[in-house]
Amino acid sequence: MALFSVPTPVTTILLDIEGTTTPITFVKDVLFPYIKENIKKYLLEHWQEKECQEDITQLQKQAEKDSHIDGFVPIPSAISDNETENMIQAVVDNVYWQMSLDRKTTALKQLQGHMWRSAYITGQLKGEVYEDVVPSIRQWRELGFKLYIYSSGSVEAQKLLFGYSIEGNLLKLLDGHFDTTVGHKVESKSYRNIADSIRCSPENILFLTDVVKEAFAAEKAGLHVAVVMRPGNDALTDEDKSSYCCITSFHQINFPSENN
Ligand SMILES: [Mg+2]
Repeated sequence: MALFSVPTPVTTILLDIEGTTTPITFVKDVLFPYIKENIKKYLLEHWQEKECQEDITQLQKQAEKDSHIDGFVPIPSAISDNETENMIQAVVDNVYWQMSLDRKTTALKQLQGHMWRSAYITGQLKGEVYEDVVPSIRQWRELGFKLYIYSSGSVEAQKLLFGYSIEGNLLKLLDGHFDTTVGHKVESKSYRNIADSIRCSPENILFLTDVVKEAFAAEKAGLHVAVVMRPGNDALTDEDKSSYCCITSFHQINFPSENN
């Protein structure tokens, strides 16, 4: 088994989720279909709640900005109670449209996050993690490493995935979470922001991700990187494989203390 030796300055491990700790299929085949299958029911059940109304307001604001995009689905304001049903249908159609374009608008992510929270809490969803993830992160913590998550999913969605995982509540194993509010994952500045925010030098951080563009951005910011290859991930090119240290399991990560 090929091993990746963690460089000595590393004290902190930053983990991507999708394609790294968790199968890419979890998001595509479990989380997103859950939204599509349950959004109408969710809106009908939660419509009167303040949080749900705020989510709708944000989606309406986004819809106003999107009116120039092909296939755009407007969300009208409800003028009277008997128009609520039309409005719910418009929200459903708008969300389907945004999801068909794989958009990541804050308004969409906010509603999705609230729907997933409700599903995790009621046990309808459980976060998936690869079998090597929990034993590895437990071991890393025992060795004294700090562990952070950086994912394009919102911090709230991240906490739900790890808080209600198939292996129980994993949040106590994590030191913190970052999402794209620190910047996009393919931009180097985001990784410098994370390093600043956790008061770490970039060279103290090892970033694990399945996406080469993210590894490139992180490396440019001075972080150490390894690319994780999991079943179902996009295949890496030969050039990618020769440019980056690639692993198929966290068990392949070897720490300086293990060499002593
Ligand atoms: Mg990923």
